[in-house]
Amino acid sequence: MSDTIFSKIIRGEIPCHKVYEDKHVFAFLDIGPLSRGHTLVIPKEAAATLDQLSDESAAAIGRVLPRLSRAVLKATGATAFNILQNNGAAAHQAVFHVHFHIIPKFENGTGLGIRWESQKFDHGAGAALATEIAASV
Ligand code: AMP
Repeated sequence: MSDTIFSKIIRGEIPCHKVYEDKHVFAFLDIGPLSRGHTLVIPKEAAATLDQLSDESAAAIGRVLPRLSRAVLKATGATAFNILQNNGAAAHQAVFHVHFHIIPKFENGTGLGIRWESQKFDHGAGAALATEIAASV
């Protein structure tokens, strides 16, 4: 895949406000924050979307995401937060290097706004779909 701004940040070619780094993971403050403390957690592996990420990088991110979330909460004083992970332009992805947003949600409303329009669930179709998904895991 082509080089993105996040690969340049990992290599130190573009400045960032780094909060964490290990062998597989890098984290820094989002430059267009939805709230104070908005942090991006990225794998060093240059995968465009989550479904293309290796198990090793995925495990490394999963291992530190709770710890980084706790650190963001502690530093900001927030008690609520969202984890957001966009894949594909239609799903609001702008940078095609996997990233997890840690977005503190504050009493004053700053943070992630969510539109959640749930649809009717059909149990017959749901059973067939669950079987199909399960067969591909
Ligand atoms: P997404 O819409 O999920 O692809 O989010 C991309 C995020 O990357 C946005 O929240 C941007 O503000 C953030 N971003 C883009 N460039 C930089 C940068 N140079 N440093 C920090 N964050 C950035």
